[in-house]
Amino acid sequence: MSRISLFWFRRDLRLTDNHGLFLALSRSEQVIPVFVFDPAILDRLTEKKDRRVQLIFDALRELNSELASRNGSRILMLKGSPEYLIPELAIQTGASAVYTNTDYEPAAIHRDTAVQEQLMKSGIGFHSVRDHVIFHQNEIVKEDGKPYVVYTPYSKAWKSRLTANETRHFASENLLEKVIPANPHPSEIQTLSDIGFSPADVSIQGTRQAGLQFLSGFSARMASYGETRDFPAVKGVSYLSPYLRFGMIGIRECVRLALSENSSGSVKWLNELIWRDFYSQILWHFPHVVSDSFKPEYAGLQFPNDEEKFRHWCEGTTGFPIVDAAMRQLNQTGWMHNRLRMVAASFLVKDLHVDWRWGEQYFAEKLLDFDLASNNGGWQWAASTGCDAQPYFRIFNPELQSRKFDPAGKFIRKYCPELKNLPDGLIHSPATLSEADQILYGCRIGTDYPVPVVLHPEAKEKALLLYRKK
Ligand SMILES: Cc1cc2nc3c(=O)[nH]c(=O)nc-3n(C[C@H](O)[C@H](O)[C@H](O)COP(=O)(O)OP(=O)(O)OC[C@H]3O[C@@H](n4cnc5c(N)ncnc54)[C@H](O)[C@@H]3O)c2cc1C
Repeated sequence: MSRISLFWFRRDLRLTDNHGLFLALSRSEQVIPVFVFDPAILDRLTEKKDRRVQLIFDALRELNSELASRNGSRILMLKGSPEYLIPELAIQTGASAVYTNTDYEPAAIHRDTAVQEQLMKSGIGFHSVRDHVIFHQNEIVKEDGKPYVVYTPYSKAWKSRLTANETRHFASENLLEKVIPANPHPSEIQTLSDIGFSPADVSIQGTRQAGLQFLSGFSARMASYGETRDFPAVKGVSYLSPYLRFGMIGIRECVRLALSENSSGSVKWLNELIWRDFYSQILWHFPHVVSDSFKPEYAGLQFPNDEEKFRHWCEGTTGFPIVDAAMRQLNQTGWMHNRLRMVAASFLVKDLHVDWRWGEQYFAEKLLDFDLASNNGGWQWAASTGCDAQPYFRIFNPELQSRKFDPAGKFIRKYCPELKNLPDGLIHSPATLSEADQILYGCRIGTDYPVPVVLHPEAKEKALLLYRKK
């Protein structure tokens, strides 16, 4: 039992069922919680009203008010380099151990190794445990010890290895009186402006309370997830991704929910949660995916990268309603439906012939749920450069995707109001409107709504050539 330990919060912003926090509390007499705003991450955010930073603040504020009401304690929020701040704080407070939950991104692994090395010099232990995923690192590998690079056998192995241990609830509620506040610190921050940011307009609240509402709302409709999950205008998916990303909701509680019901929807949802673990282990085993194709044979793809087309894609002015509505949803809310992520990503790479890394970066800047492993996995899937990816010759037809998954154009009408008067049959391809129809429906193509930036059949042929020449 340590007398004092630090618990370092990162992407696990909850007090309950938090593995690392539970261990720190169980093995220490007193625990000082700390969160570090790292300039190495913050300085890359160009928008100083960043919605993700706002969500983190919401979450920390909620945790602090809970801690304050229990025993007047709080999470120490610091700004600076964790490599320096964490060891310094441990020494200053007399902590003999630092606990945290493992992060699998290459930069985070590098940072944590540096922190651990500094701590070791002072004889302070560093304990990093699995919390963000159900299985991590090389826990699920093939019989020959090599990682799985195809989802279906991975998910079978994942399911066959799952025991109550992986989904256990780490109940720390009764231990929270051990949390004590640190003394005031020179790098302590109180407000967003202390870290150079301003309040951002976010459509959701970054609190666990809000996450729990999404979880319980989804639980009531989980059985129909399989039928509804592909339709962006239908409330079918869980909308939990930002909460899973920052850990206001934990993956174990989601898996427990999926296992609590035996419906086709719950099975399907569990499979999606397993995709998250799958991409996490891909990133851990193959860190080269951060900048390169997973499959080396696609490393030499020569994308023309037309900046004007890329701008149209970013702004939602491509002339393809389903793509434009999707991109406007992303720009306005910071979230995009999974079906649309696939359509928009495929369109950028295979219709506009722009490098998947450009799109990946744009999503990384905008998504509330941005997660390197899942975003990179999704983009490489769409670009056919990744593991278990869409074959390069299977190219989504945006108009057909639109007709199939937004048949009445309800989603399109919400984000492209200039198309709202078009009948269901015409809304998916406004460029085909006759002059008379353009007047009738109050939508002039080229004025109210853009002319398509490419013709899909031609763009498709060009993409096939590009991939064959790779
Ligand atoms: C190009 C592209 C980029 C993506 N970028 C991200 C990203 O940055 N962050 C992110 O969390 N997801 C990403 N995804 C996966 C998926 O689109 C989102 O997880 C999902 O849309 C989130 O909505 P939800 O919480 O309602 O999902 P639900 O359908 O309710 O699924 C529940 C959870 O399962 C996980 N999940 C579902 N589908 C996937 C998937 N295909 N891959 C990995 N995990 C999945 C997520 O954690 C999700 O919250 C991306 C997909 C694509 C095609």
